[in-house]
Amino acid sequence: MSASAEPSIFSRIVAREIPATILAETERVIAIADIAPKAPVHILVVPKTEQYANVTELAAGDPGLLAEVVAVSNQLAAEHSDGDFRLIFNSGPGAGQTVFHVHAHVLAWPGG
Ligand code: IMP
Repeated sequence: MSASAEPSIFSRIVAREIPATILAETERVIAIADIAPKAPVHILVVPKTEQYANVTELAAGDPGLLAEVVAVSNQLAAEHSDGDFRLIFNSGPGAGQTVFHVHAHVLAWPGG
């Protein structure tokens, strides 16, 4: 868990405490449809652990898990679009991060 006492919204989704459209799941990663999509395909790929608040912490703490996030993102972009995708990690409130449980935004535009 993060510094906050409460589980993050993504941990609550992992625990099936709140609903989400789950598009992929592995032992260590879950992928859900973003509730407020900014592109025709907008998927969040989230490590199940919330011990890393942002991508810098994840890269330093568990580079293999970051690689899995990227691999799952690539697979979902192939399944839901034509394989091309934008991968975004907002890092810090000034960059628009609102959930401090690291997650990748996969954005894609089927058909270009
Ligand atoms: P951030 O701004 O980079 O932290 O991204 C958080 C993302 O989580 C935003 O794009 C939100 O739309 C999304 N989000 C927040 N709550 C939920 C939810 O319950 N289900 C799916 N996506 C969510």
